[in-house]
Amino acid sequence: MPEIEPYSAGNNALFGKYELGKLLGCGAFAKVYHARDLRSGQSVAVKVINKKKIYGTTLMSNIKREIAIMRRLRHPHIVKLHEVLATKSKIYFVMEFVKGGELFAKVAKGRFSEDLSRKFFQQLISAVGFCHARGIYHRDLKPENLLVDENGNLKVSDFGLSALTDQIRSDGLLHTLCGTPAYVAPEILSKKGYDGAKVDVWSCGVILFVLSAGYLPFNDPNLMAMYKKIYKGEYRCPKWMSPDLKRFLSRLLDTNPQTRITVDEILSDPWFKKGPIKEINFYDDYEVKYEDKDESESTNLNAFDLISFSSGLDLSGLFDNSHNTEADSERFVSAESPEKIVEKVEELARAENLKVKKQKEFGVELDGQSRNLSIRIEIFRLTDGLVVVEARRRSGDAESCKELLKKKLKCHLTGNEASTSTSTSQQDSGDQNQ
Ligand code: AMP
Repeated sequence: MPEIEPYSAGNNALFGKYELGKLLGCGAFAKVYHARDLRSGQSVAVKVINKKKIYGTTLMSNIKREIAIMRRLRHPHIVKLHEVLATKSKIYFVMEFVKGGELFAKVAKGRFSEDLSRKFFQQLISAVGFCHARGIYHRDLKPENLLVDENGNLKVSDFGLSALTDQIRSDGLLHTLCGTPAYVAPEILSKKGYDGAKVDVWSCGVILFVLSAGYLPFNDPNLMAMYKKIYKGEYRCPKWMSPDLKRFLSRLLDTNPQTRITVDEILSDPWFKKGPIKEINFYDDYEVKYEDKDESESTNLNAFDLISFSSGLDLSGLFDNSHNTEADSERFVSAESPEKIVEKVEELARAENLKVKKQKEFGVELDGQSRNLSIRIEIFRLTDGLVVVEARRRSGDAESCKELLKKKLKCHLTGNEASTSTSTSQQDSGDQNQ
């Protein structure tokens, strides 16, 4: 089957939904295109990741989690992820289009005043703290990830995806750090393992330095010499910097992660607090405020829904076609409530003389001791009105398991064997243009 290529002749609309336009930027493993949403006419940015580059890494298992994270991050200073689409060879992240370009293109024209630097830094910290409060670390904050919208406000991109790049690097597929290593915390260079929150704070420190000084704190044409400077924390503030800012930077660019300032401490720093600043509360939830109404009301499933709502969903089929779990598992969508499905599973278990063990969060285990059969059933809420049921053989005879899963269980739960199966349509949804 032919692949969809963003610019393939006569097929310029991705999944019939997005008309792809010019290339906005190129990363080490992804290309970002401008695109138009054909339904709303609005601009979006589409990041295209070639699965070949991530194939065979431990990334496959992490990607589901990362996408789920991104989907849930709703913050005024974080680039919004609209949806994720997939074909056999590519993953497409459809994101909010940020019109004003990269922040650093602006600072390249001349350093910012301390007030303007503070404004962007406060917005950066509000986004970073928001993510940290939810256990998400960027770990790759750098100029390319800081965009400015048409109102002159900061938008951080790649939160959640950053772990992807990390993975790729640690798996050795990328042998060099992409871009400049100038934003990398010293503890990363020592390769001893690091704390994601501390690493982000260091990068924020480098970013603040660049905004207010107009040049990098650690720089040298010789890479080793640059690493040494980072390692030793050797930088010099320009003379025009206020003493308060110098002191604040020394707390951010502390080479010892143990004593480096934390995001919570940043909030009460005198330099940070100066000027008109709205109170920052990292625990405020923007999800409801920023959620698109029609998204939550939608009952159409796409690859994105399946990925993002189902932390335990096995998407190996989506990413790897050689992995055939057909005989061992069954997955389908139901409009019943999770509670009702558990009830029905219990009914079936009684009829089949299987023992039921309930697990937390709508998990059920069925054990048929006489048949030496063990099946795990998990139920994930997809939208308000839809759930995904996934049943998987843990042990026992494959044939009798198949019979039970494909005929009895599915039939019993949906009342219609063929009606709502997504065990293969999940792939189809990503390959619909082929
Ligand atoms: P990335 O691979 O995320 O570093 O993106 C590469 C480049 O594409 C960035 O440096 C931006 O110039 C551009 N870009 C990425 N995301 C967006 C977006 N949501 N809106 C506009 N431009 C973007």
